[in-house]
Amino acid sequence: MPDNPQPSEMPIRGDEDPFTLLAHDAPFPDGAVVPPIYQTSLFTFADYAALEASFSGNNRRPVYSRGDNPTVMEFERRVAALEGAEAARGFASGMAAISAAVLSQVESGGRVVCVRHVYPDAYRLFRKLLPRFGVTVDFVDGGDPDAVAKALPGASVLYLENPTSWVFETQDLPALTALARREGVCTIIDNSYATPLYQKPISHGVDLVVHSASKYLSGHSDTVAGIVAGRADLIARINDLTYPYLGGKLSPFEAWLLVRGMRTLPLRLQRHQESGLEIARRLKDHPLVARVLHPGLNPPALTTLSGYSGLFSFEVTEAVVVPVFIDALRLFKIGVSWGGHESLVMPALAGIRQAGGPSSMIDFGVSPLTVRLHVGLEGVSDLWADLSQALERAAGP
Ligand SMILES: *Cc1c(COP(=O)(O)O)cnc(C)c1O
Repeated sequence: MPDNPQPSEMPIRGDEDPFTLLAHDAPFPDGAVVPPIYQTSLFTFADYAALEASFSGNNRRPVYSRGDNPTVMEFERRVAALEGAEAARGFASGMAAISAAVLSQVESGGRVVCVRHVYPDAYRLFRKLLPRFGVTVDFVDGGDPDAVAKALPGASVLYLENPTSWVFETQDLPALTALARREGVCTIIDNSYATPLYQKPISHGVDLVVHSASKYLSGHSDTVAGIVAGRADLIARINDLTYPYLGGKLSPFEAWLLVRGMRTLPLRLQRHQESGLEIARRLKDHPLVARVLHPGLNPPALTTLSGYSGLFSFEVTEAVVVPVFIDALRLFKIGVSWGGHESLVMPALAGIRQAGGPSSMIDFGVSPLTVRLHVGLEGVSDLWADLSQALERAAGP
């Protein structure tokens, strides 16, 4: 073992085939093919000189795991490489990453411009928490560059999510980032849906990319985690202003699970894409389905997505009783989240029936007839058989 634990020095290049990048590792200590889990809160120093060298900033070496941890750094290096980012910082959850990124860029009296229909908890962060600190948030139609251009002057952050949650509206990233750059506005995008394999926002001018790593990066529904990637100076700003004090650090074991899960990310996404598109096309042709909200059906002329994942929504016709449909499903389990091996279903109806106000699902562009699916890794004909029998049962005799 090295005297000072360090992340492996393997150069990771963003231009490498992601299959190679994620499967091929330099050997770790003793020739291990998997990085060790540094399950430790602190890292001691051999002597006073080593302590001083570290504290004076002459070498970056782990000191305490609320700061750097070598296993977490393995995860950060991989995501940075895939995103084509100079640096990345892991977090305890996607929301920890989102809040730390946004809070590093705003101050009292400032303003955020946010595309409509973003992830519901990000929306609530903007609606409920930021106004308490004197930050206002304007929601705009991200599909309308003129509306975004009008809202931008004087803002400090443009918050994007492409495609958006639940309704999967897309944005023209190069156009919006050019507008933001002209106004000196920092752009932050939630890239959880596409992952860096199917969308590389930094190459389209985005400043900071956030992920819920709980979804496809993990891929196994066994961890909650997040990450922010971007220019070194912007990540340094997060490290300076928010990360140490909000304290939402990623644990070494969760990072180890993420490094393991990501090895199969390209393979899993191919399968989610294929099965998701197949199910979406069949639903589109089904007489009990009113419309399908999948960014791969009728794609806009200009898109920065190079692939689609297994998440999309559809609306059933009035003939379908949504709770009966949900209960008739056998393979699609009822549950939040997505991105794992398993297929999931979420009706918008339950959220709509919750108390109104900012938590109302209506704000997210859905109707009581909207149902979201995550198409997992199961056999696509089994999944289709499950959906079609449930639709028929829910439409009654
Ligand atoms: C789940 C999710 C988040 C939040 O991530 P957590 O890891 O649950 O905190 C953010 N954005 C999107 C699009 C998500 O689906």
